[in-house]
Amino acid sequence: MELIKGADTARELTARAKEIAGSLPRRPKLVTIRFGEDGSDIAYESSAGKRMVYPADTDPELFFEAFSKVNADPDVDGILVFQPLPPSISAVRLFSEMDPDKDMDCAVPENRLKLFEGRDGVCPCTPEAVMWMIEHAGIELQGRRAVVVGRSLVVGKPLSMMLLKKNATVTVCHSRTKDLAKVCREADVLVAAVGRAKLIDGSFVKEGAAVFDVGINMDADGKLVGDCDISGMEHASYVTPVPGGVGSVTTSVLALHTAEAAAKKLL
Ligand code: NDP
Repeated sequence: MELIKGADTARELTARAKEIAGSLPRRPKLVTIRFGEDGSDIAYESSAGKRMVYPADTDPELFFEAFSKVNADPDVDGILVFQPLPPSISAVRLFSEMDPDKDMDCAVPENRLKLFEGRDGVCPCTPEAVMWMIEHAGIELQGRRAVVVGRSLVVGKPLSMMLLKKNATVTVCHSRTKDLAKVCREADVLVAAVGRAKLIDGSFVKEGAAVFDVGINMDADGKLVGDCDISGMEHASYVTPVPGGVGSVTTSVLALHTAEAAAKKLL
């Protein structure tokens, strides 16, 4: 079993982003929007650009007024909104108002449609990080079985579309899937995007399968762990660690998206 850390893929993507940025007349500019104080959002954001931070009980009209300025600002190339939003902020309104070209995480309906139709366009950063890691490891997808555990709009569903586009045969699992371990054992490529610490152990993994762990959870000792318990996965071909795996590539994908958005506008 080989441990695939995210660092090499992240370096490659960051280099691409820098190369694109270097060819532009000004630095690409990203704005992140966060409500509340979620620790993992803050960690992700610290590597990003300008921040807009609002309390969870912010006045929607004041927020949308500030948002419309950023959205219309020609110097802003990309916007990333951390989700979930507070109940007072309408996701439907926010993402229907957002400029599709500034949508860095494929949350605007027009961009989602492109993804689900298999057309080219921006993809959500985390599923794209998984796809880059698969490519970097040289794992063939065409005609192979991929099982994605999790069906959220942020990770599981878009990732299943991206795997499908690469001609994998994709199964999507969720909390009502019967005999999850049996379904997972059919996978050549298994992706865990659940949010349950160490739900997936070696008994879910077929000999020679590649396992990608998207999960970010705190265990009972306050330690960061994934959805997979990789200690019993010696029979897998590849596994990704948490931390230092998929999550460490996501920020570089975001940088690449921002550079590409700026290039689309400025070149
Ligand atoms: P959601 O909570 O939105 O979705 C979780 C999915 O897992 C749901 O589809 C749910 O099923 C399914 N699920 C829950 N429990 C089980 C179970 N026991 N068996 C099978 N399926 C189950 O989470 P996200 O998709 O937003 O995130 C998933 C994980 O990825 C989290 O740990 C999150 O922190 C992490 N994450 C990591 C990122 C990174 O950059 N590395 C970025 C984004 C997320 P159902 O639909 O039936 O409820």
